[in-house]
Amino acid sequence: MKEITTKLLVIGGGPGGYVAAIRAGQLGVPTVLAEGASLGGTCLNIGCIPSKALIHAAHDFEQARAQAAGTSPMGIHVKEPTLDLAHALLRKAGVQVLNGWATVEDGKTAVVQVGGETVRVRCEHLLIATGSEPVALPNMPFSGDAGGAIWSSTDALSPTELPKRLVVVGAGYIGLELTFAYRKLGTEVTVVEAASDILPRYDEALTKPVLDALKKAGVVLHLGCSVAGWDAKSGVHVRNARADEFALPADKVLVAVGRRPRATGFGIEGLQLTMNGRAIAIDAHCATSMRNVWAIGDVTGEPVLAHRAMAQGECVAEQVAGKPRRFEPMAIPAVCFTDPEVVVCGLTTAEAKAAGIETIEASFPFAANGRAMTLGAEGGFVRVLARKSDHVIIGWHAVGSSVSELSAAFGQSIEMGARLEDVAGTIHAHPTLGEAVQEAALRALGHALHI
Ligand SMILES: Cc1cc2nc3c(=O)[nH]c(=O)nc-3n(C[C@H](O)[C@H](O)[C@H](O)COP(=O)(O)OP(=O)(O)OC[C@H]3O[C@@H](n4cnc5c(N)ncnc54)[C@H](O)[C@@H]3O)c2cc1C
Repeated sequence: MKEITTKLLVIGGGPGGYVAAIRAGQLGVPTVLAEGASLGGTCLNIGCIPSKALIHAAHDFEQARAQAAGTSPMGIHVKEPTLDLAHALLRKAGVQVLNGWATVEDGKTAVVQVGGETVRVRCEHLLIATGSEPVALPNMPFSGDAGGAIWSSTDALSPTELPKRLVVVGAGYIGLELTFAYRKLGTEVTVVEAASDILPRYDEALTKPVLDALKKAGVVLHLGCSVAGWDAKSGVHVRNARADEFALPADKVLVAVGRRPRATGFGIEGLQLTMNGRAIAIDAHCATSMRNVWAIGDVTGEPVLAHRAMAQGECVAEQVAGKPRRFEPMAIPAVCFTDPEVVVCGLTTAEAKAAGIETIEASFPFAANGRAMTLGAEGGFVRVLARKSDHVIIGWHAVGSSVSELSAAFGQSIEMGARLEDVAGTIHAHPTLGEAVQEAALRALGHALHI
């Protein structure tokens, strides 16, 4: 058996793992990265990037269809993401990539199946970055890759043909992003959600514009309902709060009820790491309960976001290189790429209340923003949340067209400890959507200019 000795072995080449490997390589740490499927992980291959490509294509398709008054002149092709960049960056950083599934033997050893060959890798530091996988419903196993009707998000991102009727189970961000995309492509979409609201983490003011847009698009919603099963003849069996059962006919059923850390099945159980539910428990250094075994990204639990995984990856690489680092962000922005988009960065109003923080809160509507008017995107608002005592900003919330692009400003102001006066006193370019950020801060101080 071939043997390799290295300082850092990274298992998993998603955004967490490949960023960790690149940063470690940049710092001169001998690094091996094992990836069993495709570099880029969920994010690049079956998650963030293809879903946004589909959303963009669906948006263009909808516009073209509207312009062509009912004719359908174009085919929709979601371009395969290119992996050359990740390969090139890893090569440039001097990282050795093993294309194969890794099995952990102990905290310093793993074996990787590379083609027909078994490679044993011995390391000083082991980084687990194995990500997550979609959760199936009981009695409804995913069957999309065999041409069956029960889709995971992965199947929904590579359809062989558009279903006429799609039932989406789960009104979280993945379910709703794909709902909008499929509806714009012409599919009849029905959403079933067990909670009484869509996007349950967010308050009603934020979710109402999304709910209104779903209804306007003709999406049928069954909130407060659970899915009891499926059969090809009658469709999805749904039970409402009064325990009445009804069936929703469907050609495909997209189950988007959450993701589960991939923390079993590759020998990791043998390390007996402390767990946090199904996720690997980590401390503020991304260290697990075993010395020099680290874990980052979705395998460590919520929030399952690519930018969190990347930031953790960088943090671990720097510690392995001997730098003092901790992973203690003030805010991790969360974006729903629905139409309109939703951003929450920092604390929500409810979280601040639960923490006993006295706050000032103010919103500025896009209806009073010049750029939004020129774009015909006057729905939605930006809201700021600050501590009453010293005006330090602790949260930003926004809903509207393209508000995902404001998330950088939101994150920076919170991370830098900005006060309302800092944002209110910053000159924002005119006409931009960003002026709504400044106006929200001005309004919280009692002197908004354009409302
Ligand atoms: C439809 C969809 C849309 C999303 N949209 C967004 C979004 O807009 N923004 C956002 O921030 N996040 C989004 N996410 C979430 C995001 O994709 C994940 O948070 C992110 O990919 C997690 O990165 P990771 O490195 O922890 O794991 P992953 O990206 O899951 O990568 C883990 C990698 O490890 C490999 N692996 C696992 N076990 C082994 C083993 N034993 N040996 C070798 N390799 C192994 C896997 O093949 C995989 O490539 C979305 C997810 C989905 C499904």
